[in-house]
Amino acid sequence: MGVTWAGTHSFRASRLVEPTTVEEVQEAVRTAPGRVKAIGTRHSFNDLADTDGTLISVLGLQGRPFIDLTDPTHPTVTAPAGIRYGELGAWLQQRGWALHNTGALPHISVAGATSTGTHGSGVRNGCQSTALCRVEFVDARGKLRTVRSTDHELAAVAVGLGAFGILVEASLSIQPTYDVRQDVYTGMPWEVLLAEAPEILADAYSVSIFTTWTEPTVQQVWRKSGMWLDDAVPDEWRGAVRSPGSDARLTTKDPDALTPQGDPGPWNERLPHFRYSGPHAAGEEIQSEYFVPMHAASEAIEAVRAIGETVRPHLIVSELRAVAADELWLSAAYGRDTLAINFTWTRHPGQVSAVLPEIERALAPFGARPHWGKWHAFDAHAIRHVHPRLDDARAVFESLDPEGRFSNTHLEQLGIREARGLA
Ligand SMILES: Cc1cc2nc3c(=O)[nH]c(=O)nc-3n(C[C@H](O)[C@H](O)[C@H](O)COP(=O)(O)OP(=O)(O)OC[C@H]3O[C@@H](n4cnc5c(N)ncnc54)[C@H](O)[C@@H]3O)c2cc1C
Repeated sequence: MGVTWAGTHSFRASRLVEPTTVEEVQEAVRTAPGRVKAIGTRHSFNDLADTDGTLISVLGLQGRPFIDLTDPTHPTVTAPAGIRYGELGAWLQQRGWALHNTGALPHISVAGATSTGTHGSGVRNGCQSTALCRVEFVDARGKLRTVRSTDHELAAVAVGLGAFGILVEASLSIQPTYDVRQDVYTGMPWEVLLAEAPEILADAYSVSIFTTWTEPTVQQVWRKSGMWLDDAVPDEWRGAVRSPGSDARLTTKDPDALTPQGDPGPWNERLPHFRYSGPHAAGEEIQSEYFVPMHAASEAIEAVRAIGETVRPHLIVSELRAVAADELWLSAAYGRDTLAINFTWTRHPGQVSAVLPEIERALAPFGARPHWGKWHAFDAHAIRHVHPRLDDARAVFESLDPEGRFSNTHLEQLGIREARGLA
């Protein structure tokens, strides 16, 4: 059945079905014995997408996106749910439209990314799931159902973890296209970051801060400036200097894999860190990510820095980003403007597992929430403590799928679906 993109989990499912039509998805759900679970591009790092039954991939679903301008104040694009951001982004850009943001990697599917609350950066940018205004999915009986922004269920299903059905189509809010310019800064003093973290993250449309926690000055800050916002591109900025052509090989050994610096360009070719057309590195990494309230950003950064020597040995790099508050019940930014603290680790599972509880202890005072698709050590009790709408989301999942066909061990262990005594 294969492994996750990063090789961090071997799927236990007994069968993989790859439908090309919605009717085939319905048929697959109807006829599969036992449990089923949707799988996207396999970029999650844990067993969230696994099942003891049948995996259903929507990546091959046929269909073209289409733009709906019926309500001129709320343009949308509707696309097959398995489409990758890189493909959808290029399609929109060719027609003069854009999404509000992207994650780092454009190879990830819309269905999988929105299902885990995947995010980019920007203090005014909600996670990718906040763009969802309508989803069409196949339910446990193989019936096609629609949830719209006017339905209360959208707050549960937008970050739905594949816990209630198989998304086959998604409608997303769009906006006129825009250009972004990406610049790398080096040498920001730690005192500046610790004193001004929220302001630094708010200084351009999308800002990413890269660190290994123990270096004398903050390793790099990437500013993705909105050209329509007249975001300044200063040579010196908050104690850091613009370093054109600086070695931005933080998360890849191949600089050609990264989106261009310096020249302004379309949003879909600057907001992701990685090019869609470029070489797509194989995994060989593990990621973990924790979300804390932005108002506690400086203290949270200080808390991780205090255990920097413990974190450093198996870390490739950490990335700090901003995510705007939203109303999606299982979003990591639910109800609070958020600082996201990501850890990209070398693929040393034992050592990484050992350090995660230390990080979680350090971030517990800030009510840190883990990324659903990445490695963490939270159990049901800890998840419930930080996700105030967990019970509401579970109630929606249970009502849409009373027999638990879309449940799995992972969801049960975290209390997202009711425990049904699975092995
Ligand atoms: C190199 C790399 C970079 C990353 N960068 C970021 C980043 O910048 N920001 C961030 O937040 N995360 C990031 N991630 C994490 C990634 O975005 C999430 O794990 C995301 O869920 C992966 O989407 P996927 O299509 O691979 O889904 P999968 O990993 O295949 O599945 C994830 C979940 O989505 C569900 N799902 C998939 N398809 C459907 C469907 N059709 N219907 C219902 N449920 C479905 C699955 O059941 C599962 O629960 C990154 C991961 C990697 C490997």
